[in-house]
Amino acid sequence: MNWKDAPWQSGATRTARQAYHARQRATAVGLPASLTTNEWRAAIEAFGSRCAFCEQPLDRIYLVFRDPAAGATHDNCIPSCNRCQRRHREENQ
Ligand SMILES: [Zn+2]
Repeated sequence: MNWKDAPWQSGATRTARQAYHARQRATAVGLPASLTTNEWRAAIEAFGSRCAFCEQPLDRIYLVFRDPAAGATHDNCIPSCNRCQRRHREENQ
């Protein structure tokens, strides 16, 4: 693990914590876990800080695995609002 991504690092942002927890989630079930904080930040920017599903601007960003079986990689992690991430999770269970 890159020490700069450690959530306990001073100045760590919510973005860094989310990337870290996404990697933990993926690793726990044996999936790829390559997402870096910068990649996650870039993904949020690519979506214009909007929900990838309903496109509303996000106050609070949730990290969603586009394909739950593909792990924490830069092209599988997308920003979502709370409502859409819950629906996405239910649909993929
Ligand atoms: Zn949404």
